[in-house]
Amino acid sequence: MARERLAHLGAPLEGARPGLLLVISGPSGVGKTSIVRDVLARFGGDFSVSATTRRPGPGEVDGRDYLFIDERAFQAMVDSDLFLEHAQVFGRNWYGTPREPVERAIAEGRIVALDIDVQGAEQVRARHPNAFCIFILPPSEQELLRRLRARGREDESAIMRRFAESTREIARAKSGSTYDAFVTNDDLGTATEAVCSLIAGRLARQ
Ligand code: 5GP
Repeated sequence: MARERLAHLGAPLEGARPGLLLVISGPSGVGKTSIVRDVLARFGGDFSVSATTRRPGPGEVDGRDYLFIDERAFQAMVDSDLFLEHAQVFGRNWYGTPREPVERAIAEGRIVALDIDVQGAEQVRARHPNAFCIFILPPSEQELLRRLRARGREDESAIMRRFAESTREIARAKSGSTYDAFVTNDDLGTATEAVCSLIAGRLARQ
């Protein structure tokens, strides 16, 4: 009971190490998903399943990849302050991080990983100054464009829109003070190692 109450308040349990709120951002096609998966396999921890108003893509599972909800349900969650952060991404769909599972994980001393955009990371940083925020960069703009095309998911005009949005997002990330580190994904294994050693360093310090 006491444990539940403390967890609910977001306070660390007595004697437990504090958890880590890990934010990973970066443009689509940069390899974030694989990096987050590998990080969680290495350190253990929870993936924060976001709510979104966008429709599920092929192979995506409700409750595992996202909580797929409609705009009315999303707005109700906003009104009830159930999100840690929320944002309209690419000026289209809404995305939000349910607050309670994240705060519970941290209070229980676990790592929780959020794959969210720059607007969301800025909000998380404001609410949780101790969050550890990493931005994954493509090796170059040409390589990002090549990877977006290689995914074969969208037509050329959608790819070009996503590319323009990505370059704006990178500029915003670099010009602000939200991110603790930038990691270039030239090679997935090397980038994953770099992210893991940043996290290990952070855990050793806290
Ligand atoms: P996708 O629709 O391709 O899965 O995700 C599009 C973008 O939305 C990605 O950059 C992803 O990081 C971001 N995103 C996913 N979930 C959230 C969330 O809960 N909050 C915010 N702010 N961005 C999110």
